[in-house]
Amino acid sequence: MGSADRIRVAARLATEQHALRPVAVVVSAMSKITDLLLDTLRKAEAGDQTDVDANLRHLTTRHIDCCGALLPPERQEAALGGIHALIQEFTRIAKGMMMLGERPPRSVDEAMAVGERLSALLMAEYLESQGVAAVAVNAAEVIATDALFGNANPLMEPTRQRAAKILQPLLDKHILPVMTGFNGSTLDGRPTTLGRGGSDFSASIAAAALDARELWIWTDVDGIMTADPRLVPNAQVLEAVTYAEAAELAYNGAKVLHPRTLAPLAERQIPVWSKNSFAPEKPGTRILPKIECKQGPHAVTSMADVALVSIEPASAALSGTKVMARSLDALARANVELLAITSSSAPPNSWKKIWRWSWLTVTSNRFKWMYRWA
Ligand code: ASP
Ligand code: MG
Repeated sequence: MGSADRIRVAARLATEQHALRPVAVVVSAMSKITDLLLDTLRKAEAGDQTDVDANLRHLTTRHIDCCGALLPPERQEAALGGIHALIQEFTRIAKGMMMLGERPPRSVDEAMAVGERLSALLMAEYLESQGVAAVAVNAAEVIATDALFGNANPLMEPTRQRAAKILQPLLDKHILPVMTGFNGSTLDGRPTTLGRGGSDFSASIAAAALDARELWIWTDVDGIMTADPRLVPNAQVLEAVTYAEAAELAYNGAKVLHPRTLAPLAERQIPVWSKNSFAPEKPGTRILPKIECKQGPHAVTSMADVALVSIEPASAALSGTKVMARSLDALARANVELLAITSSSAPPNSWKKIWRWSWLTVTSNRFKWMYRWA
């Protein structure tokens, strides 16, 4: 959803399929918009009025320009009204944070969903202008989650019920729902988000909730590759991988898929295509419950920006297990993602061994904060 041109391509891909069978679309925000929203909220919390205003202007220009390039003149007024109303909503939340000097997690989630609500609106308006009946749907009305703001988990049964009520009737009427990725809401209606890059996850949750035949995930690479092509120039696209392989690659740093995407699909065994919207004629990678293939490794992946933390009990008299338990508990409270844990023994200077633990973790601001003060 990078630009008016990319939205046109996305709409064309959706329209082609919509002519053949019922289709629901899930969109992410326009590129870099989620970062911009987050930055604006941080600046609001810090009371930085000038930067907040500059960001808001940028947010507005980006969407108004896109609207101008995308829609015929007679449709622009209504769409612009919608864009301004959403940006107004975002501004209201940011101003609240500025007054409070803090960023309550649920307000952050409510504000962050505005990026996807803007792009869903643009996409639906464009489809309508092309003669395709389409409606923008806020996933807060469809995807039910727990209350882990910023990284919420879907509640599948209530989501199925909501999808049956909101999405299915549209599909039955041959109307194309354009649902926001990334967001949801708790059972009592508080807005949540599913974690950065979560639009893929939203799409898989929706696919599972609707018992979809397949899920197509459109990105800007040719599919899942044997390695990161920026690091390994002769990396190749894999024809097919299993859910387990794709999930493991995503979890360990392959950017092509959000790590949690495949979980909702596994139970209903819904197949996935990972395809390139810049080259839709290329086959892409199929992700399936099982595949026939040669033995041996299929792909490698790597991760940057991780921290390695080592701890060692100061004396053999301390219970290493308790030290470890306390450290892990602190990490859990900070919602830090743990990648790997090892233990080894430091050179014993008494008959007792001193165990030493290391763990790898994704660095995050909260983690750094904790690390500094804990
Ligand atoms: N817009 C959200 C993000 O940037 C979700 C997504 O793009 O998948 O994290
Ligand atoms: Mg994405």
